[in-house]
Amino acid sequence: MKEFIKNYSLKEVELLFEAIGEKSYRAKQLFNWLYERNVDNFFEMTNFSRDLRYHLDEQYEISPLTLVDRKKSVVDGTEKFLFKTFDGHFIESVFIRNDGTDEGRLTICVSSQAGCPMGCAFCETAKIGFKRNLQTAEILDQINQVRRLTGLKNNNVVFMGMGEPFLNYDNVLKAADIMNYTFGFHISVRKITISTCGMYEGIERFIDEKRPYNLAISLNDTDMVKRAKHMPVEKKYPMEKIIRLLENKFPASRNRVTIEYIMRKDNISEEDAQRLKTMFRYNRIKLNLIPLNKGKHNLEIPTQEEINKFIKRLEIMNIPISIRKSAGSDIDGACGQLSGKHYSSNSN
Ligand code: SAH
Repeated sequence: MKEFIKNYSLKEVELLFEAIGEKSYRAKQLFNWLYERNVDNFFEMTNFSRDLRYHLDEQYEISPLTLVDRKKSVVDGTEKFLFKTFDGHFIESVFIRNDGTDEGRLTICVSSQAGCPMGCAFCETAKIGFKRNLQTAEILDQINQVRRLTGLKNNNVVFMGMGEPFLNYDNVLKAADIMNYTFGFHISVRKITISTCGMYEGIERFIDEKRPYNLAISLNDTDMVKRAKHMPVEKKYPMEKIIRLLENKFPASRNRVTIEYIMRKDNISEEDAQRLKTMFRYNRIKLNLIPLNKGKHNLEIPTQEEINKFIKRLEIMNIPISIRKSAGSDIDGACGQLSGKHYSSNSN
């Protein structure tokens, strides 16, 4: 089988080119074709010699993903794309028009794994179970394909699709670096967010390696017994330890860490607000609230009135909050709704 060319960093392509007697600046030209110009065929690379184009076509593949299905929300213009990998797994990417138009902030939510092993009670992806880690090329190609299919250039990326990014650390960070790179997608580091359910080792490594991307951590409960029930990861990596890690190690010069919090009927009480306040004594974090989306879980969605009450409490306590809209819920494209639907009708 051919290798996927998007698995290679610029440095690696330079070495590949040197090995076949090509000038190393050709590597930047290749990156420009792949990411800026978004071609899916080596023969379109017209500033390369015929020999080089043939060589590349013989050895490498550009696009590892095939589009299977596409849906658009009539409510907010959010689009969901279902792709098939070369070995028959299904993954999803979501294109979000943050203010409902083609201008302004355009976000692509990418998947980092086919399925997910974390087993969160509220999330549809967990129901699929874990298939495998995505390669760097498969992460990047989601952006290539969504840009080609929508004809729009996103300026924001969130690793909040299927999977736990920090269980696929190397491939995820390599993809983020290529997204950021001038000759890659050229997306600013502040517009790339990696979200984890709380993998202690991954967070520590991310900090130690001084990775410049935004970090988000899914908290979802303030009572840690309850958290362990909804998010098995709590048993292995208690949130308390993660907050302490941030306190000790997360540089003050950096963007605050986002703490994501799904609002259910049973986690937005006065006590929850109090516990959040204690947690927010560490002031390098901000809270991102999202109402629970529908799914196969049997958890209860709070009323708007209950949500407003909780928000009011947090505001009085001076906790920095933002509220996430559930983009694409009518197409099962919102947080926690990515189930790679074709799984149910397929044997793999
Ligand atoms: N595994 C990583 C990346 C996935 S991000 C992580 O957990 O952070 C997916 C986000 O959607 C997480 O913040 C998760 O808590 C949230 N989510 C999952 N199911 C949801 C649901 N039913 N309603 C609202 N948010 C949900």
